[in-house]
Amino acid sequence: MIFTEDTQPDASALESALKNDPAISHVAVVHCETTTGIINPIEVYGKIVKKYKRTYIVDAMSSFGAYPVDLKACGIDYLISSSNKCIEGVPGFSFVLARRESLMVTRGFARTLSLDLLAQWEGLEGDGQFRFTPPTHAILAFRQALLELEQEGGVSARGARYYENYQITLSAMQTMGFKPYLNESLRGYIITSFYYPDHPNFHFKEFYERLSEKGHVIYPGKLTHADCFRIGHIGRLAASDVASLMAAVAETLNEMNISMPEKVEE
Ligand SMILES: *Cc1c(COP(=O)(O)O)cnc(C)c1O
Repeated sequence: MIFTEDTQPDASALESALKNDPAISHVAVVHCETTTGIINPIEVYGKIVKKYKRTYIVDAMSSFGAYPVDLKACGIDYLISSSNKCIEGVPGFSFVLARRESLMVTRGFARTLSLDLLAQWEGLEGDGQFRFTPPTHAILAFRQALLELEQEGGVSARGARYYENYQITLSAMQTMGFKPYLNESLRGYIITSFYYPDHPNFHFKEFYERLSEKGHVIYPGKLTHADCFRIGHIGRLAASDVASLMAAVAETLNEMNISMPEKVEE
């Protein structure tokens, strides 16, 4: 089954697939699909996965730390994330939150030596050691990042800051005439995709480089069928940083002689 990039995978299709095909043993979903910025309803899928007693894997790379996740209510067996997104650590390692019973039955499953999650867990439980050289500096930075997350007020406060970054971005971008790619109900507050403006002077590379010269780095789009770029809302960014990015976008449009209709209605 294929679902287009601007839609959430259909829960009833998941249910009939699990009902009709006992060979499906695992279901994996991306919580915030960073290509578009879509947020997928992991609890809705999780209830179905558990109803049919399959294993549920959630890629929460770009959501964990900024979206609340109820592991139990979602029925998650494995949640995967990393040090360098919403936790705001430095890049260096990923981590898995696993339901212990699910992990214990995987003995012998690993097809590589180094990516043997159970062996790594047992190593840490046994003598507290990593099996290979640990990224010590990234782990210390992660500890500090967790303290700062706590100081900020935890996941809800961090999510609220990102949500504000998203709101400021969206409203300023729409005022300048940009149109978001996703319908409002599907959009998260991690990253937002915007269509290229329909203007002969718009060339993404030039737009990107002019913003970069002003100290602002945005993301190219990666969509299959739509020309888009992306603006991220996560990281050590405050409302003032976002306002300064929006001013730089306006200045860049000016420099490139791009004028758009005042406001595009959704
Ligand atoms: C960023 C991201 C990844 C890759 O994470 P790295 O830290 O770059 O290795 C994978 N999945 C999603 C959904 C992401 O946002």
